[in-house]
Amino acid sequence: MKIKSYLLGEWREGMGEGVAVRDAATGEVLGFVTSEGLPLREAVAWGREVGGKALLALDFRERGRRLRGLAQYLSERKEELYCLYATTGGTRQDAWYDVDGGIGVLFAYSSLARQLPEGNLLPEEENLPLSKDYSFQGRHLLGPKGGITVQINAFNFPVWGLLEKFAPAFLAGVPTLAKAATPTAHVAEGLVRLMLESGLLPEGSLQFVAGGLGEALEALDHRDSVYFTGSKATADRLRRHPAFLERGALFNAETDSLNAALLGEAAGEEELLRLAQEIAQELTIKTGQRCTAIRRVFAPRDRLEALLAATRKHLEDLRLGDPREEGVSLGPLASLEQREEVERAVETLLAGGARVYWQHPGRRDGAFFPPTLLLAEDPLGEALHRVEPFGPVATFFPYGSREEALDLVRRAGGMLAATLATPDPEEARFYLLGLSGEVGRLHILNRRDAHSSTGHGSPLPRLLHGGRGGRGAGRSWGGFSPCGATWPAWPSRPTPRPSRPSPGSTPRGRSAPPRCTPSASPTRRWRSGKPSSPTAAPSPRRTSPSSPTSPGTTSTPTPTSWPPGRAFSESGWPTATSSSPPPRASSWTRPQARSWPTTASRAFASPSPWASATPCRPGSP
Ligand code: NAP
Repeated sequence: MKIKSYLLGEWREGMGEGVAVRDAATGEVLGFVTSEGLPLREAVAWGREVGGKALLALDFRERGRRLRGLAQYLSERKEELYCLYATTGGTRQDAWYDVDGGIGVLFAYSSLARQLPEGNLLPEEENLPLSKDYSFQGRHLLGPKGGITVQINAFNFPVWGLLEKFAPAFLAGVPTLAKAATPTAHVAEGLVRLMLESGLLPEGSLQFVAGGLGEALEALDHRDSVYFTGSKATADRLRRHPAFLERGALFNAETDSLNAALLGEAAGEEELLRLAQEIAQELTIKTGQRCTAIRRVFAPRDRLEALLAATRKHLEDLRLGDPREEGVSLGPLASLEQREEVERAVETLLAGGARVYWQHPGRRDGAFFPPTLLLAEDPLGEALHRVEPFGPVATFFPYGSREEALDLVRRAGGMLAATLATPDPEEARFYLLGLSGEVGRLHILNRRDAHSSTGHGSPLPRLLHGGRGGRGAGRSWGGFSPCGATWPAWPSRPTPRPSRPSPGSTPRGRSAPPRCTPSASPTRRWRSGKPSSPTAAPSPRRTSPSSPTSPGTTSTPTPTSWPPGRAFSESGWPTATSSSPPPRASSWTRPQARSWPTTASRAFASPSPWASATPCRPGSP
């Protein structure tokens, strides 16, 4: 069966055999992806003409209302997406990030729409007087460009990735042509079917292609844009296309990243334990297949062994297997090709000077790759800071001084996210200054904020998502601001919510993942529980390793402040402003993660990792 594309108002099948898409855990062929012979050049023109006009017949507010309606519609049907997602190797908790996170993006944008004016013109700053008597003035306005946006998505977030690009385009009144990555195109197809079935999207506002883009890029000009997420290698190839170099289309990229975690010199035992927890979590969420996952860990030479041991402790009890089976806490990578890529990357890291410190003894068959901790006693090898193993792998490095640590962290040539574990504001300031040109977001973790932090890898709707340097330097809503930082919060002071509706407000989809059947039972994942949405707060809350009362609760309450760059208070942390967002409500224990339903587990409990049947098939219901 072929995965279909939706172009020119119809579901269409490409010609030729296509590329097989397989269930990540069983290897069963789920369908074939091909876009050969599809009218992609025509789709660009049709999207501009039909979709563009239909969208601008509505205004910001109406489109915002429709986004909300769409979010509600998908929320009610998300179980279908959960079932499809199970075939990609993710656990139910991983699916929660993708599905509920994506729905959260829709809610966030619909909230944002309430702050926008009626109509389709968005004034920027105030009027600028251009004559002495003010009779002649100027003002900058944002208005429709009349083009289409082609959205190229990575395989690892088939739902969230598509929705986080579609939502801002739809709100802006720009028609979308979404391209799914081949390995998870069946999940994206299922999502697009539901979106179209909602009846809320004007004709032409959303088109979808499973497979290559054909001649679509040839049809782009200065009115159009391409929003890309994927590897740097692909982005570098694409950005040289004449559509961007000669015809003036916009190219925005979000690419891979050798994100860092750094144990500060001032870190105490609590910071060390929390950082270990964070690293282990980054290795296991989506089996380490997140662009923001921690790939490089730096610690003072005399504490490296303790950090490695603490991280390992979190990973030892994981059970690898088909995520639909009872008790499984870590699934396979998305495909055999992905496993081969990770293996190649690890070989390069080993050749570059790292050695295996520890590897989980679990499954290595099929697309499975066990959590692996590498140690690079000589931290200078170039490949160690340039090669991204897109799976559950992290390399640990010792450092002798802050200056040396800074130099090592910078060697990645730009990053999306980094975490610094320190209770010392001076140390935080040192790295904030030193890394502001290197990292999209610096997450500062310590005993004061660990309980409420949304975690290292969490795109947040209040911040922009963007890497630095060679990471694409793109900016997209729902994530990191270039040179953003998240600061420790003091948990004891409840601050009222801002009255203004915020795009970062809690999405509706924040409940625990739904069950495919009532038989779903808790499965143990290290200190794991309800994840928060990739949009609103995608990382699960931490559970305190020591006590449910943070050391911060007994101190004089000092509210958090952002953005960074404001004056530092006497405590050394930035001072509060009236616009500071409230600390998130404290939640020390999380509900346990759920496994896939028993019924499905049985269906998949085959001794061969590559043979079984799936209850959720791509294509029309
Ligand atoms: P990829 O191989 O670079 O592919 C990304 C997308 O580009 C896919 O949809 C792919 O389609 C498409 N593509 C490839 N060649 C193309 C071409 N010539 N013209 C048009 N489209 C083309 O990356 P991936 O393996 O899907 O994703 C994993 C990578 O994405 C990792 O490196 C990860 O770090 C990165 N990532 C970054 C972010 C971020 O926000 N920075 C988020 C998620 C993932 P096909 O699959 O059909 O080839």
